[in-house]
Amino acid sequence: MSRDCIFCKIVAGEIGDPPLYQDDEVTAFRDINPQSPTHILIVPNKHLTSVDEATEADQAILGRLLLTAARLAKDEGVADRGYRLIINNGSQAGQEVFHLHLHLMGGRRMRAMG
Ligand code: AMP
Repeated sequence: MSRDCIFCKIVAGEIGDPPLYQDDEVTAFRDINPQSPTHILIVPNKHLTSVDEATEADQAILGRLLLTAARLAKDEGVADRGYRLIINNGSQAGQEVFHLHLHLMGGRRMRAMG
Protein backbone atom coordinates (compact mmCIF):
# COMPACT_ATOMS: atom_id res chain seq x y z
CA MET A 1 0.00 0.00 0.00
CA SER A 2 1.14 3.49 -0.85
CA ARG A 3 -0.03 5.96 1.80
CA ASP A 4 -0.61 8.84 -0.59
CA CYS A 5 -2.45 6.78 -3.23
CA ILE A 6 -6.19 7.41 -3.55
CA PHE A 7 -6.89 3.98 -5.06
CA CYS A 8 -4.97 2.24 -2.24
CA LYS A 9 -7.31 4.05 0.18
CA ILE A 10 -10.36 2.82 -1.75
CA VAL A 11 -8.96 -0.75 -1.74
CA ALA A 12 -8.42 -0.50 2.03
CA GLY A 13 -11.99 0.80 2.53
CA GLU A 14 -10.73 4.07 3.99
CA ILE A 15 -12.66 6.26 1.52
CA GLY A 16 -15.56 5.93 -0.89
CA ASP A 17 -18.56 3.65 -1.05
CA PRO A 18 -18.17 -0.10 -0.52
CA PRO A 19 -16.63 -1.55 -3.70
CA LEU A 20 -18.78 -3.19 -6.36
CA TYR A 21 -16.52 -6.22 -6.14
CA GLN A 22 -13.43 -7.18 -4.16
CA ASP A 23 -11.38 -10.34 -3.76
CA ASP A 24 -7.87 -11.05 -2.58
CA GLU A 25 -6.34 -9.64 -5.79
CA VAL A 26 -8.58 -6.96 -7.30
CA THR A 27 -11.14 -4.31 -6.37
CA ALA A 28 -13.80 -2.73 -8.62
CA PHE A 29 -15.63 0.54 -8.02
CA ARG A 30 -17.50 3.16 -10.06
CA ASP A 31 -15.55 6.00 -11.63
CA ILE A 32 -16.27 9.25 -9.78
CA ASN A 33 -16.54 11.12 -13.10
CA PRO A 34 -18.23 8.62 -15.42
CA GLN A 35 -17.73 9.04 -19.17
CA SER A 36 -20.38 6.45 -20.08
CA PRO A 37 -23.52 5.03 -18.40
CA THR A 38 -21.38 2.18 -17.10
CA HIS A 39 -17.89 3.31 -16.10
CA ILE A 40 -16.15 1.02 -13.62
CA LEU A 41 -12.52 0.93 -12.57
CA ILE A 42 -10.87 -2.39 -11.74
CA VAL A 43 -7.59 -2.14 -9.85
CA PRO A 44 -5.07 -4.57 -8.37
CA ASN A 45 -5.18 -4.48 -4.56
CA LYS A 46 -1.39 -4.37 -4.64
CA HIS A 47 -0.01 -0.92 -5.46
CA LEU A 48 1.36 -1.09 -8.99
CA THR A 49 1.97 2.27 -10.63
CA SER A 50 1.17 1.15 -14.18
CA VAL A 51 1.34 -1.74 -16.61
CA ASP A 52 4.89 -0.64 -17.18
CA GLU A 53 5.80 -1.56 -13.61
CA ALA A 54 4.22 -5.02 -13.79
CA THR A 55 6.46 -8.08 -13.96
CA GLU A 56 6.03 -11.79 -14.65
CA ALA A 57 5.07 -12.14 -10.99
CA ASP A 58 1.97 -10.01 -11.70
CA GLN A 59 0.71 -12.16 -14.55
CA ALA A 60 -2.17 -13.66 -12.56
CA ILE A 61 -3.27 -10.25 -11.30
CA LEU A 62 -3.26 -8.80 -14.82
CA GLY A 63 -5.41 -11.71 -15.99
CA ARG A 64 -7.75 -11.25 -13.06
CA LEU A 65 -8.32 -7.61 -14.04
CA LEU A 66 -9.61 -8.66 -17.47
CA LEU A 67 -11.72 -11.57 -16.25
CA THR A 68 -13.27 -9.39 -13.56
CA ALA A 69 -14.09 -6.76 -16.17
CA ALA A 70 -15.79 -9.35 -18.37
CA ARG A 71 -17.88 -10.61 -15.45
CA LEU A 72 -18.87 -7.12 -14.31
CA ALA A 73 -19.82 -6.21 -17.89
CA LYS A 74 -22.28 -9.13 -17.85
CA ASP A 75 -23.56 -8.15 -14.40
CA GLU A 76 -24.09 -4.56 -15.59
CA GLY A 77 -25.95 -5.74 -18.69
CA VAL A 78 -23.53 -4.16 -21.16
CA ALA A 79 -21.80 -7.31 -22.42
CA ASP A 80 -24.28 -8.13 -25.19
CA ARG A 81 -24.07 -4.75 -26.92
CA GLY A 82 -20.34 -4.34 -26.34
CA TYR A 83 -18.04 -2.45 -24.06
CA ARG A 84 -14.60 -0.91 -24.07
CA LEU A 85 -11.65 -1.68 -21.80
CA ILE A 86 -8.94 0.96 -21.49
CA ILE A 87 -5.66 1.18 -19.58
CA ASN A 88 -3.87 4.51 -19.76
CA ASN A 89 -0.17 4.02 -19.20
CA GLY A 90 1.85 7.15 -18.49
CA SER A 91 1.08 10.84 -18.69
CA GLN A 92 1.03 11.18 -22.48
CA ALA A 93 -1.65 8.51 -22.59
CA GLY A 94 -3.72 10.48 -20.09
CA GLN A 95 -2.96 8.50 -16.94
CA GLU A 96 -3.91 10.70 -13.98
CA VAL A 97 -3.96 8.22 -11.11
CA PHE A 98 -0.71 6.31 -10.77
CA HIS A 99 -2.18 3.08 -9.46
CA LEU A 100 -2.82 0.69 -12.36
CA HIS A 101 -6.51 0.59 -13.31
CA LEU A 102 -8.63 -0.87 -16.07
CA HIS A 103 -11.57 1.27 -17.26
CA LEU A 104 -14.70 -0.71 -18.13
CA MET A 105 -16.96 1.53 -20.20
CA GLY A 106 -20.28 0.65 -21.76
CA GLY A 107 -23.89 1.60 -22.23
CA ARG A 108 -23.35 3.93 -25.18
CA ARG A 109 -21.83 3.83 -28.66
CA MET A 110 -18.10 4.55 -28.51
CA ARG A 111 -16.31 6.79 -30.95
CA ALA A 112 -13.42 5.41 -32.95
CA MET A 113 -10.10 5.42 -31.11
CA GLY A 114 -7.81 8.32 -31.91
P1 AMP B 1 -6.74 7.74 -15.73
O1 AMP B 1 -6.85 9.03 -16.48
O2 AMP B 1 -6.69 6.53 -16.62
O3 AMP B 1 -5.62 7.77 -14.70
O4 AMP B 1 -8.10 7.61 -14.94
C1 AMP B 1 -8.27 7.99 -13.62
C2 AMP B 1 -9.75 7.87 -13.34
O5 AMP B 1 -9.93 7.82 -11.94
C3 AMP B 1 -10.57 9.05 -13.87
O6 AMP B 1 -11.55 8.55 -14.78
C4 AMP B 1 -11.19 9.64 -12.61
O7 AMP B 1 -12.50 10.10 -12.81
C5 AMP B 1 -11.14 8.47 -11.64
N1 AMP B 1 -11.09 8.80 -10.22
C6 AMP B 1 -10.25 9.68 -9.62
N2 AMP B 1 -10.48 9.71 -8.29
C7 AMP B 1 -11.47 8.80 -8.05
C8 AMP B 1 -12.16 8.35 -6.88
N3 AMP B 1 -11.88 8.85 -5.67
N4 AMP B 1 -13.12 7.42 -7.01
C9 AMP B 1 -13.44 6.92 -8.22
N5 AMP B 1 -12.82 7.28 -9.37
C10 AMP B 1 -11.86 8.22 -9.29
